[in-house]
Amino acid sequence: MMDTATTYKCPSCGAGLTFDPESQTFHCEYCGSSFTQEEARQAQDSAAAEVEKSPEEPAAEQAEAQDQGQQTEEMTVYHCPSCGAEIVTDATTAATQCFYCHNPVVLSGRLSGEFRPEYVIPFAIPKEEAEKRFLHWARSKRFVPRDFFHKSRIQKLSGVYFPYWMVDCKLDGAMEATANRVRVWRTGNTEYTETSRYRIVRGGKVNLNEMLKPALKKADQKLVESVLPFERKEMKDFTPLYLTGFQAEKRDVEREEAQPALEQQIKNYTEQLFRDTIPGDMVAVNVTHLETNNQDQKWQYLLLPVWTFTYRPKGEDKTYFYAMNGQTGKVCGELPIHYGRLAAFCGGIYGILALLLFFGRWLLG
Ligand SMILES: [Zn+2]
Ligand SMILES: [Zn+2]
Repeated sequence: MMDTATTYKCPSCGAGLTFDPESQTFHCEYCGSSFTQEEARQAQDSAAAEVEKSPEEPAAEQAEAQDQGQQTEEMTVYHCPSCGAEIVTDATTAATQCFYCHNPVVLSGRLSGEFRPEYVIPFAIPKEEAEKRFLHWARSKRFVPRDFFHKSRIQKLSGVYFPYWMVDCKLDGAMEATANRVRVWRTGNTEYTETSRYRIVRGGKVNLNEMLKPALKKADQKLVESVLPFERKEMKDFTPLYLTGFQAEKRDVEREEAQPALEQQIKNYTEQLFRDTIPGDMVAVNVTHLETNNQDQKWQYLLLPVWTFTYRPKGEDKTYFYAMNGQTGKVCGELPIHYGRLAAFCGGIYGILALLLFFGRWLLG
């Protein structure tokens, strides 16, 4: 597979185009022009027509200056299509910026073939807005030292497309459990307690949608999970154009590696769905049997937008890491909290759960 370094060029002046989250267009900072995806692609097509075409790849992904990356262990060196300087990347980098001329560079060869994502959610929050929201979020937290947050202390703010697996799964679920119902009443001076023991049977079709698993080993797993969920309706068919001006990473976690954690998640969600149908006055619920049969799993690979922040407070050695969902603005990370308390990571269930139930009968034990 040919690895290529591409800079998408402005059709008007030839400078590098970057994706603009605010207008959702492709913008040239040099001459100020903006282009739709169609226009940017057409310009790239006509430029690419001058270079040799590879039959497997669409012309839009051809580099104007093709460059076979030279690999040495984990690092790969490319040459910037604009200034010719060396761009050193690690094995998973798929989009970056030239350190010297600051032109955006997309390494589209790393996102082709089996590594071509099916979908991408483009950034919707521009950099300045991300910075503003981050500071607002941080200042709104209680127990945080007052002087902790200042714009100037943000060390690094990067827009990164991270790789994720997205799995939808249909299955036939079944659960058996035992539970008690306790009734207490009084007659005269005597208090009576009646404990009824139930066997609970549940079965039904379960749909688990949009279960997301981070697919990059070097990423802080907690952080890249904490920014979930994303809204699927903004999902676009993948084109490398959306990556221009941002960083992007390709996956290094394959399906087989992600599978065990996903199986556990499927079990947990299924159990939770069935448990939720047990009336609230039942106590000591104990699940004795759980089945997740006839699983129909659909796996998709996609890139999702995340703003990452590193922050070092004044007079401290410690660097703090944060992540913000680049689509919704949800922020997560650890804050330095007074009284030795740490902020909990944002949690939750990342998936839309649906359940069709065939109720089992209540059986008095
Ligand atoms: Zn231009
Ligand atoms: Zn350059």
